Amino acid sequence: MFEKVLIANRGETALRIHRACKEMGIQTVAIHSTADEDAMHVRLADEAVCIGPPAPKDSYLNKAAILTAANITGADAIHPGIGFLSENADFAEMVEEHGHVFIGPTAEHIRLMGDKIAAKVAAKDFGLPCVPGSDGGVNTDEEALEIAKETGFPLIIKAASGGGGRGMKVAYSMEEVPEALAICRAEAKAAFGDDAVYIERYLGNPRHIEIQIIADGQGGCVHLGERDCSVQRRHQKVIEEAPSPALDPELRAKIGKTVTDAITKMGYRGAGTIEFLYENGEFFFIEMNTRLQVEHPISEMIYGIDLVREQIRVAAGAPLSVTQEDIKLNGHAIECRITAENPVTFMPTPGKIGDYHAPGGLGVRVDSHLYSGYKVPPYYDSLVSKLIVHGATRNECLMRLRRALGEYVIGGIDTTIPLHQKLIGEQDFINGDYTIHWLEKLMGLKK
Ligand code: ADP
Repeated sequence: MFEKVLIANRGETALRIHRACKEMGIQTVAIHSTADEDAMHVRLADEAVCIGPPAPKDSYLNKAAILTAANITGADAIHPGIGFLSENADFAEMVEEHGHVFIGPTAEHIRLMGDKIAAKVAAKDFGLPCVPGSDGGVNTDEEALEIAKETGFPLIIKAASGGGGRGMKVAYSMEEVPEALAICRAEAKAAFGDDAVYIERYLGNPRHIEIQIIADGQGGCVHLGERDCSVQRRHQKVIEEAPSPALDPELRAKIGKTVTDAITKMGYRGAGTIEFLYENGEFFFIEMNTRLQVEHPISEMIYGIDLVREQIRVAAGAPLSVTQEDIKLNGHAIECRITAENPVTFMPTPGKIGDYHAPGGLGVRVDSHLYSGYKVPPYYDSLVSKLIVHGATRNECLMRLRRALGEYVIGGIDTTIPLHQKLIGEQDFINGDYTIHWLEKLMGLKK
């Protein structure tokens, strides 16, 4: 096992990884920008190295600085966390070339799944059901119009390198296709430096359902059921729950088996998530994330498995510590993503935290780097806390979540806590009756 792990991340993600390392007896090295000198991940780590100025490109995305930090501290392995360099195949390669272990899948698998066009082709080969659409990239108006005849309308044009809900454009008729194609390409080029796009049928009212897997690359592969991440704003997840109110044990076992078969065929090693849209009893693959995800704790809560621990173990060459038979669903979990944003306008609200009191009690987990006096910097993602609640039943979980949100005090800045309080009180949410459009319709952003 590793003796020392460098955590190439910040905020609650860095803390999450630090916690798993400490429980495994592993020393931790934090990296940080000059804006994060007082951050909790820096305070808790055994060692810390400042790697650059605030802008992510100069610090948390600065590959050379991170590798230098790993070299000078003698870290055996690097955990990239979530976001930043976690899906950067070049970085994974560089880490290994410099004699450290990359805690994640192989560079080859990251690269394959990072190109959404190639990923869809591969997913089909591995036996996953996909959204009907173009089999590859779409370059010209003529090609797009030809595919549109097959998919019908509406259709969605998506960037091959897209992520974070960006680089997508919906077209409702033939007339709209050329302009949508041009806009999507231009946006993709500007945001991702790559204007390759592809076309899919735009599903009318699906749920976003994803399957968590972890595999050891030695034949061991398990799934931890599904997460329902349909509560979204601008294609970004706001509340996630597991299990999904829309699935039953039979469907769960079926899609779980389809996914683990595909992952085994692929020879994948590491944690990963296969994302699907789910409509009228059918699953449609949209993408695979070759890393840990923000919402992983809800799966941990209902299956009792520490996913970061398993990630570290398999990266060190150990087999998975569990088989599918060991994995038993227990109760229900919901996560609220609490961000430093105005709960109505969603304007970012960086600033100094005043009073701070995190909720507690049975079944309550708070993954957050906040403390009283901490200054939320304006340079990074606005996620400041994840409130994760577990209950024996969905109803118990909802009651507990309401109680925990009511206890949570984050003073000094606006956060989205009031939004979460409102959402979980909505009758549709209580009924588990929502799709990917529900939140935006509720907010009056969509008809
Ligand atoms: P990203 O990598 O940016 O997260 P995804 O491909 O995972 O992009 O899609 C994000 C979200 O966009 C989905 O959860 C869904 O809400 C919406 N979406 C993507 N593809 C489609 C589609 N074919 N039909 C309807 N909605 C879609």
